Amino acid sequence: MSSSRTSIPFGRPQIDDQELAAVNQVLESGILVHGEATPAFEERFAQRIGAPHAIAVSSCTAGMHLVLFCKGIGPGDKVAVPAMTHVATAHVVELCGAEPVFVDVDRESGNMLPDGLAAVAEGLSAVLVVHYLGLPADMDAVLATAAKHGFPVIEDCALAVDARYGEQKAGTLGLAGSFSFYPVKHMTSIEGGMVTTGDDELAAMLAARRAFGYDRTIGARTKPGIYDVNALGFNYRMSEVEAAVGLAQIDKLDYFQDVRARNFAILKEHLDEIDEVTVFEPVQGKARSSHYCLNAVLPEDGSVSRDKAVEHLREQGVGTSVHYPSAVPLFTYYKLKYGYDSGQFPVAEWLAAQTISLPVGPHVSEEDARRIGMAMKDAILHGKAG
Ligand SMILES: *Cc1c(COP(=O)(O)O)cnc(C)c1O
Repeated sequence: MSSSRTSIPFGRPQIDDQELAAVNQVLESGILVHGEATPAFEERFAQRIGAPHAIAVSSCTAGMHLVLFCKGIGPGDKVAVPAMTHVATAHVVELCGAEPVFVDVDRESGNMLPDGLAAVAEGLSAVLVVHYLGLPADMDAVLATAAKHGFPVIEDCALAVDARYGEQKAGTLGLAGSFSFYPVKHMTSIEGGMVTTGDDELAAMLAARRAFGYDRTIGARTKPGIYDVNALGFNYRMSEVEAAVGLAQIDKLDYFQDVRARNFAILKEHLDEIDEVTVFEPVQGKARSSHYCLNAVLPEDGSVSRDKAVEHLREQGVGTSVHYPSAVPLFTYYKLKYGYDSGQFPVAEWLAAQTISLPVGPHVSEEDARRIGMAMKDAILHGKAG
């Protein structure tokens, strides 16, 4: 049984015989790409999210880049991005030759400030909205601003598998959503991602342009090796091995999500008793979180040392992470390129400096969750002491 010496990593992919058998089957078949697993995975995922189309890609980053590329985002364009997110959200804008316009985030959710978006909306070509740690952003406000100014909303759903906004799931709220199947996210396909959309034309474009811009109406099955290319495209395909792993994982997703919600609730109960810790509510208005992890946010004034608290947690065998380690505009690349400075994105900077992300994934037992909660209480005491 788990003792206080057993360590709980921040994340651990849940791989068992089902994934091993699925991978073996693909490898033995000899069909490693362009097979049946990828379309089967796309169909299952689209159904799960309630999206008319799902297009499998090699990562969430590839998916977001592909959507922007298909929308013709390029030099001279500006795309709004929250200041607190994975750097991928901003990088895909840069990769198109466009400029990210950073918007600070809300101090009660970590999501892009709707007023901040409205303030920079004039002249935007798109917004990449992030559902921070799985809590959907204020999409009514974001969509209203986008509609008023006539630009598309693209959702970064990397941590938002099954997150809800009213009756809909994340990934069906804007023009398109991009999901991540990186090993420690809600479910994995090793590397991998999925773009969801309700736009038929965009779906066809995404499918063609993830694979070199092949025109499949020429040649196809009747003339092997013959095709035309009518557009510029990438190789952003998902392999059959990855899709087979994804299919096995989606079978277990209900269980994964139940454990996440349970662990989040247990941990939150413990942390709500600690005055120095802020925990964002997982249900806010129409938004219901997919519980990627529990962010314990320490006071802005630095009265609790994160380094000391994390060190104590590590000694107690509790793995942690940080989401994310810098306001994106203050990462060196962006700082040097655009001249951003500390103090311009106060909430994002607070979260970057004072957040401890705690694990709630399916590798965390109920007993572990309680242990993490207790360890946090001690960790705060350690963090406060000198
Ligand atoms: C992990 C993450 C990504 C990147 O996902 P990949 O599948 O590794 O490309 C993008 N955005 C957010 C918010 C993430 O957390």
